[in-house]
Amino acid sequence: MLDLKSTIRDIADFPKKGIIFKDITPLLKSPTALTETAKALAEQAKGLKIRKIAAIESRGFIFGALLSERLGAGFVPIRKKGKLPAAVYQESYELEYGTDILEMHQDAIEKGEKVLIHDDVLATGGTAQAACRLVEKAGGEIVLVSFLIELSFLNGRDLLANYPVKSLIQY
Ligand code: AMP
Repeated sequence: MLDLKSTIRDIADFPKKGIIFKDITPLLKSPTALTETAKALAEQAKGLKIRKIAAIESRGFIFGALLSERLGAGFVPIRKKGKLPAAVYQESYELEYGTDILEMHQDAIEKGEKVLIHDDVLATGGTAQAACRLVEKAGGEIVLVSFLIELSFLNGRDLLANYPVKSLIQY
């Protein structure tokens, strides 16, 4: 098995001082790493009968879409405020300074549908928690919250304690 961790690059002080950014572009540009990652993420969701993948803008869209294809599920974009054209649900979440808003189309998920939420990185968990609230507003049942990378030292799982959480790579 390919060492996926070796394809993730640390960029210091991006997007601002003090942050070590996990850059997944070296992983994405490798055909082998890309395929292995999609396969491993899909493996984690095997047997869950997932109907929709709800993925978080924008890096979450990459493997979110590949997961949809592999699991035979529909794809639902969760986006920053003002990007989606039809009627939306909104949820705000805390940033280091201030708050931000995520939106999802109101007709994206049917009541009772099994949903997998995906993003590239779990840091403090605030973003994923807001995504969970959006899916629940629509009546979806969250069967897995999936990440490519988990920054374990930030304890993001604490905010997601009500849901099953899985990540492929931990720091
Ligand atoms: P959080 O809400 O703190 O869990 O932050 C998660 C969101 O911020 C995800 O959409 C990530 O893409 C992004 N993010 C947070 N920290 C990092 C990091 N160190 N490297 C790359 N992306 C990050």
